[in-house]
Amino acid sequence: MTGKRLAGAVFLAVAAGVVGLAWNSLRGSEAAGPVDSPTKPIRTVIVTGGHGFDQKAFPKLFEGHPDIVCEFKPQKDDSEIFEDVADWPYDVVVLYNMTQKISEKRRQNFLGLLDRGVGLVVLHHAVGAFQDWPEFEKIIGTRYYLKEMVVDGVTHPMCAYREGVDFTIHVEDPEHPITKGLADFQVRDEGYRKLPHAQDNHLLLSTDNAVSDKQIAWVRTYKNARVFCTVIGHGPQVFTSEPFRRIMARAIRWTAKRNVGRDDAAPTEAASGRTGHTGSSETKG
Ligand SMILES: [Zn+2]
Repeated sequence: MTGKRLAGAVFLAVAAGVVGLAWNSLRGSEAAGPVDSPTKPIRTVIVTGGHGFDQKAFPKLFEGHPDIVCEFKPQKDDSEIFEDVADWPYDVVVLYNMTQKISEKRRQNFLGLLDRGVGLVVLHHAVGAFQDWPEFEKIIGTRYYLKEMVVDGVTHPMCAYREGVDFTIHVEDPEHPITKGLADFQVRDEGYRKLPHAQDNHLLLSTDNAVSDKQIAWVRTYKNARVFCTVIGHGPQVFTSEPFRRIMARAIRWTAKRNVGRDDAAPTEAASGRTGHTGSSETKG
């Protein structure tokens, strides 16, 4: 090896070392998880699967909030998001799935997350998920019964739905952080009827429309978790409804116990393209 070649080799080795160090520190910071700072975004996982929906319009429901980062996780095996929660990175789970299977291990992991205080937002057809898990009804304060079922000796009738309903949504609690200062609003969406509602649900939104139960949205607590549940959330009209979008962002913040009271202006056309949802899209199912 000549001197020149040796110098070149040393340079390459040093350069590779520097690149390697930089790479390792980058990987190290990823492995360590997000740095705990007041400005870190609320990490939100949106669980889908088991029911069709407008996949192009749905992300609009979550756009325009710099403090909220969403990842979409379509479930291929009904509930694999809860298979291993040892390195769980999310502050809030949004359930928009209507999958059914959830093993005992996954149930315990789900309950463990709620025990840790991970926030839970339950949206629309997710109230029909996990029909064979009685505790799920106790977590969310309702269930859409897909067929008549007897649970703890009580017969629950099969629930009913109606698409294309023009709702007037009434704000029941104008003092709660999720609904504070909001006026009643109109939206076209799907109505659900004949659902049971837990007595300790704290009602935030209601309707007088007879094709729907009165209860439209409520909050409750389960273990150390804050839970927000709403039965509307079917289609594009509600995904782009400014009052409902605001309610969803506030629900994510309130259940995360972070940035409660913050509000964002409605996104402009220019801003709506650069908001922070990542992850894979779901094929129609
Ligand atoms: Zn629906």
